Amino acid sequence: MKDTSRSDDEAATRIETLVVAAGRPPREAGASANVPVELTSTYAADGPVIYARGGNPTWSAFEAALGELERGHALVHPSGMAAITAAFSLAPRGGTVLVTDATYYETGDVLRELETTGTTVVRRHASDTAGFLEALPGADLLWLESPTNPLMDVVDLAPILARARELGVISVVDNTVPTPLLCRPLELGADVVVHSVTKYLSGHSDVILGATVVPDTARGHDLGARLHRYRTLHGAIAGPMEVFLALRGLRTLAVRFERACASTAELTARLEGHPAVARVRYPGFGAMLSIEVAGDAAAAERVCAATRIWLHATSLGAVESQLERRRRHPSEPETVPENLVRLSVGIEHVEDLWADLDRALMAALG
Ligand SMILES: *Cc1c(COP(=O)(O)O)cnc(C)c1O
Repeated sequence: MKDTSRSDDEAATRIETLVVAAGRPPREAGASANVPVELTSTYAADGPVIYARGGNPTWSAFEAALGELERGHALVHPSGMAAITAAFSLAPRGGTVLVTDATYYETGDVLRELETTGTTVVRRHASDTAGFLEALPGADLLWLESPTNPLMDVVDLAPILARARELGVISVVDNTVPTPLLCRPLELGADVVVHSVTKYLSGHSDVILGATVVPDTARGHDLGARLHRYRTLHGAIAGPMEVFLALRGLRTLAVRFERACASTAELTARLEGHPAVARVRYPGFGAMLSIEVAGDAAAAERVCAATRIWLHATSLGAVESQLERRRRHPSEPETVPENLVRLSVGIEHVEDLWADLDRALMAALG
């Protein structure tokens, strides 16, 4: 690659630029602008990778890009859940996991499974910083998600991660919802970041993918080696095509997310005081919010069924706006109100999103 001047380096540290520039092939004459989809199971002997369960150049490009965004070293996994179970494997058998009382619902299912096989799970409310600090000395692994999904409670990450670091407790942050544009947990002292790449990072509802990221430190390299070994031995690996699509999607993350966040703030302001909305839950940043519909579960379902632009669906972080009543899933805890509808704001025109939502809400009001 050509030498870059100092001013180029400075410009490239801005995350909106990194998201476009990172993980590209070297700029040699005639080189491709993008790393291709490399479909192979094996490599000629004596290279850095010998067999594609251990690595693939398409993965490497995505991993380089996400690593730069999170300021660490990334590994791609075939789903967010694959990344999450890989990260939980870092906890010792029979150990103690300290966790936010609300997590992504299938992370909650993993925790319940761990409890049946001898792991102790200690739960604290997202905003209970003192409770986390008090419980940390007895923990082997700390698991944080902020804002929590779908209640949108915020964790004060910095003091909790700093204390975990002092005590040597392995700390993991699910950074799917804020994305590295709004939060970089490794800079706050986290040991591992996990992502559902399915959501904002790829952004187009066309791939399921996950990632883990560790810091560029001796401890980070050790954890990264364990995660890499877990991925290789369990054999749960991503297809190169999915990773290519995720990297293509990642290139527009900053503009997509900027638009979605601005629309979310505008919609939140309009929903406060709406006659069909009893409560708005918005963490003050990001592109998600939850509303409690004035009425029961059936009224909330009617809102979801009545929109034409918003997609009634369970995912989040896509270009298209989505909404869903979360308690339709049996594993969603009772702390989530029956009438709560989670909204993931996409990149459509905010006035169209508002008109569609307002009409659906008024229809549900009857
Ligand atoms: C979707 C999601 C997951 C699970 O990721 P998959 O890619 O669906 O396996 C984990 N955590 C959060 C916060 C999510 O939104």
